[in-house]
Amino acid sequence: MESKDKNEEKSVFVYADNAATAPVMPQAVEAMLPYLYDAWGNPSSLHAKGRIAKAAIRDARERISAIIGCEPDELYFTSGATESANIAIRGAAHAMREAYGRRCIITTTIEHPAVYETCRRLEGEGYCVDYVGCNTSGIVSARDIEAALSAAHGGAALVAIVLANNEIGTIQPVGEVAAAAKEAGALSFTDATQAVGVIPIDVKKLGVDTMCFSGHKFGAPKGVGALYIRRGVPFARIIGGGGQENGIRPGTENVAGIVAMARALEVSVDLMRDVERVRAMRDRLIKGLTAAIPGVRLNGDPDMRLPGNVNVSIDGVSGESVAILLDMKGIYVSTGSACATGIRDPSRVLLSLGLSREEADSSIRISLSYTNTDADVDYILEQLPPIVMRLRKLRTGNYDEQ
Ligand SMILES: *Cc1c(COP(=O)(O)O)cnc(C)c1O
Repeated sequence: MESKDKNEEKSVFVYADNAATAPVMPQAVEAMLPYLYDAWGNPSSLHAKGRIAKAAIRDARERISAIIGCEPDELYFTSGATESANIAIRGAAHAMREAYGRRCIITTTIEHPAVYETCRRLEGEGYCVDYVGCNTSGIVSARDIEAALSAAHGGAALVAIVLANNEIGTIQPVGEVAAAAKEAGALSFTDATQAVGVIPIDVKKLGVDTMCFSGHKFGAPKGVGALYIRRGVPFARIIGGGGQENGIRPGTENVAGIVAMARALEVSVDLMRDVERVRAMRDRLIKGLTAAIPGVRLNGDPDMRLPGNVNVSIDGVSGESVAILLDMKGIYVSTGSACATGIRDPSRVLLSLGLSREEADSSIRISLSYTNTDADVDYILEQLPPIVMRLRKLRTGNYDEQ
């Protein structure tokens, strides 16, 4: 719980929306400031100001690639995971079509829109896309991916699967999926945006050909991300421009953002020592809510899930109303995914688990991180049950109930 002024109630808040964006780390800001105040040169310039900026990018690339377990020349800086995913999927799909005439993409029904919408667009551009579903706890089976690979007409070009889902936090069998793709001669891509900086990720051990992530999900400012492309894989350059990032992502680099992302990732890796504490808060919250409120169900797998993710459906209320009332108490959470806020459609991910429309609409996502404390969990457990009871009474008109 953060409090700037103990006397002012409004200044007390619990930030429990870390899956939407993580608080910007002071260390990241500290690291980027010299590249805003002084070393603001264009890394492509040959003079001293340019060389300093270029060296900063090289240094950041080395530090980040060492952490995720790849070579520096396999890491490309982008504006974030959305751009990385678009480049990764299109770059692989175009290259595989060009080289082998393969036009099939296999993905899942629980992808983030960055992946899902890109695949939808490719359907209109002559590709076939197979959307593989998940089980009721939100896990996609590697066997189902294998079956889709065998069924792909003319051979699959690419398998795209999220590593950890952003709404329900389920962790997918990406290693098995990557191996199956390789076996079938297809490329693999994983969206690791919820995982990098939160749980240890070694891209070589995962065995995927491409992987994306975004700096702001682990403490860097928004607008910087990265794409890993394994050396030697067929890959088409899809953005035209100057030759920056080896032509994969042309455009003048976000030097300060890149420097901040490297620092944020290092600090995040250090903070992973705290993961058991985060997991314990998550489990106490799940237990506490289930015990205090009848008709609360956890969405997603209880074990194969991100350490900070709590996603529950609450019978008889709208998740949106709950989130608004929590906001008034200074508790910041999401309904479904933040990217879908404002759109009235129920969560595609929750419907994929087999939830009814009503159950999907009644869900909230509370995403914790190392920044949260036991006092935050206590405060949520104190505030949430009466909010639900109030909303239920309003709905039934039965003010005497419960
Ligand atoms: C946040 C997120 C993205 C998109 O990241 P941006 O920084 O908004 O581009 C993609 N995939 C997942 C799983 C995410 O959580």
